[in-house]
Amino acid sequence: MSKRIAVYGSTGSIGTQTLEVIRENPTLFSAEVITAHNNVDLLIEQAIEFKPNIVVISNETLYSKINNALSPLGIKVYAGEKALIEVAASDVYDLMLAAIVGYAGLSSTLAAIEAGKQIALANKETLVVAGDLVTQMVIKHKSLLIPVDSEHSAIFQCLVGEHQNAIEKIILTASGGPFLGKKPNYLINVKKDHALQHPNWAMGAKITIDSASLMNKGLEMIEAKWLFGLENDQIDVLVHPQSIIHSMVQFEDGSVKAQMGLPDMKLPIQYAMGFPNRIKNNHKRLEFKNYPSLTFEAPDTKTFRNLALAKDAMYQGGNAPCILNAANEVVVDAFLRNKISFLEMSDIIEKCLGKISHIALPGLNDYIESNTETRKYASSLI
Ligand code: NDP
Ligand code: MG
Repeated sequence: MSKRIAVYGSTGSIGTQTLEVIRENPTLFSAEVITAHNNVDLLIEQAIEFKPNIVVISNETLYSKINNALSPLGIKVYAGEKALIEVAASDVYDLMLAAIVGYAGLSSTLAAIEAGKQIALANKETLVVAGDLVTQMVIKHKSLLIPVDSEHSAIFQCLVGEHQNAIEKIILTASGGPFLGKKPNYLINVKKDHALQHPNWAMGAKITIDSASLMNKGLEMIEAKWLFGLENDQIDVLVHPQSIIHSMVQFEDGSVKAQMGLPDMKLPIQYAMGFPNRIKNNHKRLEFKNYPSLTFEAPDTKTFRNLALAKDAMYQGGNAPCILNAANEVVVDAFLRNKISFLEMSDIIEKCLGKISHIALPGLNDYIESNTETRKYASSLI
């Protein structure tokens, strides 16, 4: 029997690549649920091809157009955030591919966890915002989070067969993004078109800006902390511009395992969907002779302050990462609308972390309030 997949955020970069994996493996997987926010035309096109049981459009104003197109095909169409949550809690699917971008992905992922589902997690913000709560809920409801983020998939793959062995530290690799080696006097003038040109990965706009500012690596440190149950000082970041080593684990005997491959998200996506089995494919292979030098350097956190801010928030704990994430979502959106400069993003995030009250042991409502309050304050600074 094929695994029934719910692709949350099917119209995005990860979502469309997930559907490619399903298209390549029709006997292993079926797209049972697909969802989008605004991109009606692509969602309809996907539904016609993959014939899911359910389609959800979170922006309710777009319901009629989709329903008119798909209900004659016998496809159920629902709209709104509540529908995203209800379908996530239902038994129509086996594995959720959580690929909605940002805080907006939290509520449906939590519903899937409460329903004890397997979740292939691309939406790192869920763990950044509420990692302690999420990991406790995963244990309580016997859910399973399988990372899709390439660094975390690498670490997850390095840990297979190492269950009884303690991790000394993990090393998250970072490409460095389009501004590697640049200094503030250069960054002060960069515009979104340049920031959106990532050297190694084609991704959605938000994560591409996060990669350019190194916030992405900061979010990934926090994501790794919760996924792998690590102490803050067990997480290192290393710039590796070729993006061939996707991350590494160092064990207590000093041995280091790395997972390697070409930078292509389809590999971590299909690994998470097929886990614990690897799936044969004909994707392009890594040829070592094409990479005569793999290089490494320390990140420049004086220039790329977002990484330092994220690390501080991780050490502070409580609701600090939630504040960091909310402020970051607001500033990235403002940068993409040409409202603020590249360097102003860090200034505003820092102000938010200084202004919004710290809560040491937050519950879900505290996270929701911190998110709302931070967005309001960050927006007032723009
Ligand atoms: P995209 O922006 O390409 O896609 C986002 C998806 O989420 C789209 O389907 C979009 O719908 C939907 N969406 C947007 N806003 C909302 C909302 N408010 N409510 C419900 N759905 C919404 O993002 P990516 O695919 O790049 O990233 C998705 C997640 O995966 C992010 O958390 C990112 O950090 C993570 N990730 C991505 C990687 C990549 O290579 N892209 C790598 C590692 C992690 P619509 O198209 O209709 O707007
Ligand atoms: Mg990543």
